[in-house]
Amino acid sequence: MRYPKVYDVIVIGGGHAGTEAALAAARMGCQTLLLTHNIETLGQMSCNPAIGGIGKSHLVKEIDAMGGAMALATDKGGIQFRVLNGSKGPAVRATRAQADRVLYKAAVRSILENQANLDIFQQAADDLIVEGDTVKGVISQTGIHFSATSVVLTTGTFLGGTIHIGLENYRGGRAGDPPSIALAHRLRELPLRVGRLKTGTPPRIDAKSVDFSVMTEQPGDTPTPVMSYLGNAEMHPKQISCWITHTNEKTHDIIRSGLDRSPMYTGVIEGVGPRYCPSIEDKIHRFADKLSHQIFIEPEGLTTHELYPNGISTSLPFDVQIQLVRSMKGLENAHIIRPGYAIEYDYFNPQDLQHTLETKVIKNLFFAGQINGTTGYEEAGAQGLLAGINAGLRAQDKEGWYPTRDQAYLGVLVDDLITLGTKEPYRMFTSRAEYRLLLREDNADARLTEIGRKLGLVDDVRWRVFSEKQEAIAQQTQRMKETFIHPQTELAQRFTEMTGQELARENNLLDLLKRPQVSFEQLASLTEAHVAPEVGEQIEISAKYSGYIDRQQEEVARLRQSEEMVMPPDFDYDRVQGLSNEVRAKLKAIKPATLAQAGRISGVTPAAVSLLMIYLKKSG
Ligand code: FAD
Repeated sequence: MRYPKVYDVIVIGGGHAGTEAALAAARMGCQTLLLTHNIETLGQMSCNPAIGGIGKSHLVKEIDAMGGAMALATDKGGIQFRVLNGSKGPAVRATRAQADRVLYKAAVRSILENQANLDIFQQAADDLIVEGDTVKGVISQTGIHFSATSVVLTTGTFLGGTIHIGLENYRGGRAGDPPSIALAHRLRELPLRVGRLKTGTPPRIDAKSVDFSVMTEQPGDTPTPVMSYLGNAEMHPKQISCWITHTNEKTHDIIRSGLDRSPMYTGVIEGVGPRYCPSIEDKIHRFADKLSHQIFIEPEGLTTHELYPNGISTSLPFDVQIQLVRSMKGLENAHIIRPGYAIEYDYFNPQDLQHTLETKVIKNLFFAGQINGTTGYEEAGAQGLLAGINAGLRAQDKEGWYPTRDQAYLGVLVDDLITLGTKEPYRMFTSRAEYRLLLREDNADARLTEIGRKLGLVDDVRWRVFSEKQEAIAQQTQRMKETFIHPQTELAQRFTEMTGQELARENNLLDLLKRPQVSFEQLASLTEAHVAPEVGEQIEISAKYSGYIDRQQEEVARLRQSEEMVMPPDFDYDRVQGLSNEVRAKLKAIKPATLAQAGRISGVTPAAVSLLMIYLKKSG
């Protein structure tokens, strides 16, 4: 049957990438269909019910700055909020929230259901309609033909998914959900490079069987942080604590004794797992000299006794899982509600994608999320947003858009993926960004909201809040430039009492704010200025780090020159003399879009970049 409505964009998969993709396309005014296995699992957190953390909250705030759902859903579902790296510089500060998985999912679903231009349909997509080199639509499990200009695939861990617990295994997309087998077969027919990756999750524990009195309590921060630029602490449900326990030598002995029945250590699992989120068996093996690991005991929600023991992801046999859990303090009588498991799934080499996340070989087909070799909700959501935008732009017959590395972590993420590819699940870190001081979690709105507005992603409410904040920053900055404190006045005396700083000559407030010992809050109270904390924060960071920020901006300006040197897709590398065969082969395989991207390909030397530049200048 041919479905009567023709869509601009079809998104397959209602996980973190799929929901952001569908919402973005629909916000842009595109008629959008979200086709997913099960409406009850929209926005489901497959693993840890937590959003944000270092590098990841930066992505969440970028999604938010462009009108996405993840940060608002976190504010509505978050039950413990903390700012990580609070004592370090603003570039690496990160907000993290433990979420009630039921509330989070409900928030995502409500945003989806209330989005104009968006239809949701529950059914598996089994096939793509491809004519020539262009995708034209999707065929569902029961043979319904859906037509669209663009299709976004966000199938997560489901393609050819196999679940492992010890040496037992079965097909599944994640525990309790079917795998995507027909679509996996279909995709393997396309000229795209496919591989296998793996990820794992810990057993879940019944809180009624846990002795919290011997664990360390970890409450959230006060005042409670918020995730969205539109969020506030009143949106949050009741806040509760997490707990900390530890593995010990007995735990490690139990794990070692089970390795002969581990699917990872007996070669049953071939896919590579996430280096930075390793299983407990991996940790014991890799850090053999460590006698103990910290385990965070995190509640899964306000209406359940289920606990997530963060740090013991495992695919060891169930009998070993029981012993290892019960060897830890406070968990001696623990009841496991769900066993831990590993999952292997197909992913596609992201080097076969363009910066817009469109595949290089099939026009109008976009990939986002775990299918591109990443791990994590935030990485998935950010890619979903980008793929949704570009699928929408294509349907509107407009030029594609993507952020550069100095504009957004999303720019870093996509550029890393398509330039370097990935052989193991890729996750975001602040260390992956060259311009960390420019890409802070606190200024994602300043970097992206205006662009989002132009693309049609940002509604009037967000735009008003954003514009008022930027105006207040500009006004306050000007006021501080024009307000002077003169030595030997009453104000100067109060300034010294408050900050311990002497005033040798007259200074304006902005210059005083550059001093490490002086805070915006102090100056505001001194001059009785009533300024919103988020406005003060921006002025303070700009003042204190102005030297470093200026230097990074100069670097960016230099880089932009080579970013602007475009390499056409049909660029003939054989005509550039002096390139080694190895470099030539890499350039031909990756087909960088700009000279700057060519320089980021591993193995492409600065000398090779110079040769390319000379050639481009001569021929251009
Ligand atoms: P998913 O969230 O997997 O969503 C995919 C969606 O697509 C689902 O709704 C599914 O039903 C739907 N779908 C799939 N195929 C079809 C089809 N043919 N037709 C219709 N709908 C379809 N991340 C970490 O950061 N750290 C971890 O330690 C970690 N451990 C994990 C452990 C396990 C066992 C699993 C399953 C995941 C783990 N993750 C972890 C990964 C995290 O869940 C993903 O990164 C994230 O969910 C990816 O989002 P996504 O939108 O790409 O895919």
